[in-house]
Amino acid sequence: MIVVMKRDATDAMIQKTVRRIEQMGLKAHIIVGTERTVIAAIGEKRNGERETLVSCDEVEKVVPILAPYKVASTEAKAEPTVVRSRDLVIGGGHIGVIAGPCSVESEEQIVEIAEQVKLAGATGLRGGAFKPRTSPYSFQGLKEQGLKLLAIAREATGLAVVTEVMTPAHVEMVANYADVLQIGARNMQNYPLLQAVGETELPILIKRGPSATIDEFLLAAEYVLDQGNRQVILCERGIRTFEAHTRFTLPLATVPYLHERTHLPVIVDPSHGTGIASLVPPMCAAAIAAGTDGLLLEVHPDPSRALSDGAQSLTPQVFAETMVTCRKVAEALGRAPMDVSA
Ligand code: PEP
Ligand code: MN
Repeated sequence: MIVVMKRDATDAMIQKTVRRIEQMGLKAHIIVGTERTVIAAIGEKRNGERETLVSCDEVEKVVPILAPYKVASTEAKAEPTVVRSRDLVIGGGHIGVIAGPCSVESEEQIVEIAEQVKLAGATGLRGGAFKPRTSPYSFQGLKEQGLKLLAIAREATGLAVVTEVMTPAHVEMVANYADVLQIGARNMQNYPLLQAVGETELPILIKRGPSATIDEFLLAAEYVLDQGNRQVILCERGIRTFEAHTRFTLPLATVPYLHERTHLPVIVDPSHGTGIASLVPPMCAAAIAAGTDGLLLEVHPDPSRALSDGAQSLTPQVFAETMVTCRKVAEALGRAPMDVSA
């Protein structure tokens, strides 16, 4: 349930209400709004809590949260969450672009691509060091060495590093190098992993599982939020359907649908969503038109030589052209300026 505090409730009153909620065996999440503070009281429903809380002087009202995802829901917080890391800003009208190779391959590769995507307007650098590959015989990533190369590329460009962590055992190590932790589509329902990243101070980018429903996606985010980490970005990266002309099917209705249900920012990954480089630029423009808060894009200096996902990777040149188009779409729709230069 949501405990709506009175407008003039002081910090001491809020803390008193938090203690009362905790004494009931519930978890209290304080959500500070521009108008007033609300406290989401989460836990198993028993009897009488609502009545007890309503009777407190400093409490305006108590309303149940109907959605299964509680803290992620717009019922708990209507204002959009803005996630920031270095110059990367996602949500609340800001469109942040995260670009880079599928995998980190060498220092030259990652530094070169970082410089190029920055020049075209990206503020985040992607690159996998730990790669979840379908086949155990495929390139598995450079692991910690890859993380070190990402840190060198950040040093050179100032871009925020976004990289995947695959297991709770690696969270501390990856968090030492990354600015944003990525949870891969295959791990969207790895609950111990979601809890482990929820304990860090870093923003978490969660990719939708290819067979996950939107409620399951939001409940994955809820696992992170429940640990007290509020900096969560949702990423639509395509789902598995009967259709085989693209690698996955990219449902862009996810963006406005999620915006109705959650305050968390929603970004789109047309690289994995289509699997075909020529389809990526038009789907970027469509995602901006649909209201996305950002893009996650694979860009490689020489896609034909990429160690993973070359077929869906853009060249730096096409990436730069795509950014120009996206900017025009954003402007045409009256959206706030993209963090993307022309
Ligand atoms: C990736 O971003 O390179 C990746 C492995 O994506 P996904 O988890 O969406 O398959
Ligand atoms: Mn990839």
